[in-house]
Amino acid sequence: MMYQFAKRVVTGCDPKVLSKFVWNFGVKGVRSVEMYKSRLKRGEHFPPFLFVSVISSCNLRCQGCWVDVDKPSKKIEFDDMNRILNDAKRRGNSYFGILGGEPFQHPQLLDIFEAHPDAYFQVFTNGQMITDEVAARLRKLGNVSPLISIEGNEVISDERRGRLNVFNHTLAGLEACRRNKLLIGVATSVCQTNFELVSETWLRRLIDLGVHYAWFHTYRVVGPKPNPQLALTPEQVRHIRRFIVQMRNKLPIAIVDAYWDDKGEALCPMATGVSHHISPYGDIEPCPIIQFAKETIHDGDLFEVMNRSTYLKEFRQTSANATRGCVMLERPDLVRGLVEKHGARDTTQRQEALVELNALQPRSSQYDPGNEIPEENWMYRFAKKRWFFGFGAYT
Ligand code: SF4
Repeated sequence: MMYQFAKRVVTGCDPKVLSKFVWNFGVKGVRSVEMYKSRLKRGEHFPPFLFVSVISSCNLRCQGCWVDVDKPSKKIEFDDMNRILNDAKRRGNSYFGILGGEPFQHPQLLDIFEAHPDAYFQVFTNGQMITDEVAARLRKLGNVSPLISIEGNEVISDERRGRLNVFNHTLAGLEACRRNKLLIGVATSVCQTNFELVSETWLRRLIDLGVHYAWFHTYRVVGPKPNPQLALTPEQVRHIRRFIVQMRNKLPIAIVDAYWDDKGEALCPMATGVSHHISPYGDIEPCPIIQFAKETIHDGDLFEVMNRSTYLKEFRQTSANATRGCVMLERPDLVRGLVEKHGARDTTQRQEALVELNALQPRSSQYDPGNEIPEENWMYRFAKKRWFFGFGAYT
């Protein structure tokens, strides 16, 4: 199976796309995690994986979206992005998750990628603005992988994303990526209305569409329209975990996850400190759905600001002490307590994040003690054991 997968990637991707993936993401990615481990030993905290929301606007209106997509569009300016990226690269970082809103609405997005040929960017996008021209430029740059979100079939996609003909518009963007030999991923925020996508049939369809990797997020009940009826049950999350483990051994497509280690033990990327988030307004947040901050990118060198942040430190520790899962889902009371204790700002334009937080009911997340499902595929086991685990957060 691994040979088939490698063959798909090698024949499906432009040589420059492939070499940037192997070097900037693979080799330098591993180095950035090793440097993170060394920092931890020195008592320093700066995540190897930064997620940056470059713009707040979007052309879609998804259920459960926590971004101010219906407010005036705000973006991180080109010079500020360069400073963020350079500060992080000085600490060995090479991978950057680019979020929005819809990142391709940022008028200088491709210029940002071009300005950092030594970095690797994974763009979380709905794919609808990826034309052949855009995809051709991404091919020329080589250091970008579009992770395209698909939330269901034609009917479900329109319902989940609040627009018409969403599925076909997104597929057109995906097709442009395939024609231009990019490394393509498809992400789904799995919920009650699209659970059928957790299937071998869907993965085989993605393979036919030229997709190289998949990512099954679990729906987060947050934001101005949280739609709690879409939330998954613990049994469904367990099913997703089991499915991912089995398909990694069966199909020539990679499957990413950020919620389990090699033993199948749950983890939270924020609590382990491997990632934190920068909002479209430059706020430094624990993670994308915790929209409260004490610091911003304008407070100085990014490493210095994040390393000395007692707010981020206490968020990691409180979350790790309370659960191996998602503190925002399981213990919104603890999130509220930290926000109040530190006097953290509501970072949203709508200024309703605290009202939304107060309305949240505790619910289950990826933490399912006693039902851990370990990795079966040796490559995932090897990689997670060394570069994606608790990093000492869970004692
Ligand atoms: S707090 Fe929840 S949403 Fe945020 S990184 Fe942790 S698990 Fe993910």
